[in-house]
Amino acid sequence: MTTTLQHWANGAVLTSATDRFGDVTDPATGQVTRRVAFATEADVEAVVGAARDAFPGWRDTSLARRTQILFAFRELLNTCADELAEIITAEHGKVLSDAAGEVARGQEVVEFACGMPHLLKGSATENASTGVDVTSIRQPLGVVGIISPFNFPAMVPMWFFPIAIAAGNTVVLKPSEKVPSAAQWLAELWREAGLPDGVFNVLHGDRVAVDGLLTHPEVKSISFVGSTPIARHVYETGTAHGKRVQALGGAKNHAVVLPDADLDMAADQAVNAGFGSAGERCMAISAVVAVGSAGDPLVERIASRARGLVTGDGRRDADMGPLVTRAAQERVSSYVDAGEASGATLVVDGRGVKPDAETPEGSDGGFFVGPTLFDHVTTDMSIYTDEIFGPVLSVLRVDTYEQAVALVNANPYGNGTAIFTNDGGAARRFQHEVEVGMIGINVPVPVPAAYYSFGGWKSSMFGDTHAHGVEGVHFFTRGKVVTARWTDPAQRGGSAELDLGF
Ligand code: NAD
Repeated sequence: MTTTLQHWANGAVLTSATDRFGDVTDPATGQVTRRVAFATEADVEAVVGAARDAFPGWRDTSLARRTQILFAFRELLNTCADELAEIITAEHGKVLSDAAGEVARGQEVVEFACGMPHLLKGSATENASTGVDVTSIRQPLGVVGIISPFNFPAMVPMWFFPIAIAAGNTVVLKPSEKVPSAAQWLAELWREAGLPDGVFNVLHGDRVAVDGLLTHPEVKSISFVGSTPIARHVYETGTAHGKRVQALGGAKNHAVVLPDADLDMAADQAVNAGFGSAGERCMAISAVVAVGSAGDPLVERIASRARGLVTGDGRRDADMGPLVTRAAQERVSSYVDAGEASGATLVVDGRGVKPDAETPEGSDGGFFVGPTLFDHVTTDMSIYTDEIFGPVLSVLRVDTYEQAVALVNANPYGNGTAIFTNDGGAARRFQHEVEVGMIGINVPVPVPAAYYSFGGWKSSMFGDTHAHGVEGVHFFTRGKVVTARWTDPAQRGGSAELDLGF
């Protein structure tokens, strides 16, 4: 008997009357471990209603009290982060150290949000005009919706909800139906930290849940992370319904390697950034652009490292876990077939990898694809044009730095990119010229620290306010400017004595 995960509203489980459910699998074994309820329209109404009813009380709770709860949440998360990492690995498949890393990155945003009293400070001008003062303040929006992808079940929601909650909003989180359990765990942690019921709610499901949030008049903003076609749909539908929307989409991230780079370091980083979390990262490097003489020695170094990686159950001693679902495994394998057919050189082939993992009775085993490396990839091949979202690294060769930058800039995505070089001038020129939102210089996965903001350009992001950092605070609050004239009691005529009796 598998258990069914239900929604969370008003600080308690909300059981749905739905007849639609999704299977949740353990990707390392292929076994169905539980199922998750898919929201009906009535569920959307009930969960949003809980958040709406909790808003006035939470908005009016003092910043001091709100911040205390944030600190309590941070402390609890710190002590039981391993529990959350295990839940992530059991449903996503990434190795435990990656899962722990994701929790740590999310926790950094909680720590940033603990500084909300400082972040929310407005400004004041005395005597803008004679006897007239101007102040600006920022206030919460109301109910905010967060819709997250499968690849970071904890970190991506945590890019948003600590800031949203600290700023006085109430939250409805719609997690990916493939990895729904982390959201429930986080909801229970919030309750333990003392968050009032209804401030953090979870709505499970698919398009019905998403479209319900996008069109609901009580939902004031949407923070979405996922693939580009859905990000575009979310942006267009949400803004058409009067909401502010930040919709982060897919990616094809390039690492440019110049001939003067430390090639051992570049190869190490290409392997980490290409195959870490089985390539299921929006900041994964999926294309290496080798410039001039860097090509042959770099491919040799990446290949020998890739061959040494152990693919297996993320709970055991593996370097790389499985893909999230059987469909993802089949999709990635079919891209490898297509790359081979289109004439790229298949240097390391991860299809049919035989990991050290259990295959329980009644399952076909885990969803594994090993590290895969292609060389001599060209920009017309589907392994380059498409976001594969798997452990497939493509090496493209160019003769010059200019050709490398032109290649990166011609790509429709603009999430992250990296350059490997020992020439500071070349790196400086690259950061200036490249049309990408997040740049790494000898750093392959340039995820900004929590107090900076995260977001890509072009088809990797719809909307103009990036996640977390000061932009995140801006997104979850709206500005108000007050212009006030208070006459001095002494100038009101009559007695100059103050009469402050009411
Ligand atoms: P996805 O777009 O399939 O799903 C994301 C969310 O949208 C999920 O909650 C899902 O339930 C919902 N959804 C799916 N189909 C929908 C539909 N037709 N209508 C309405 N809602 C729908 O993405 P995914 O496969 O879960 O995640 C992987 C993608 O996310 C990759 O493209 C990756 O690059 C991207 N991603 C981007 C970033 C970033 O920062 N830019 C970060 C992480 C992941």
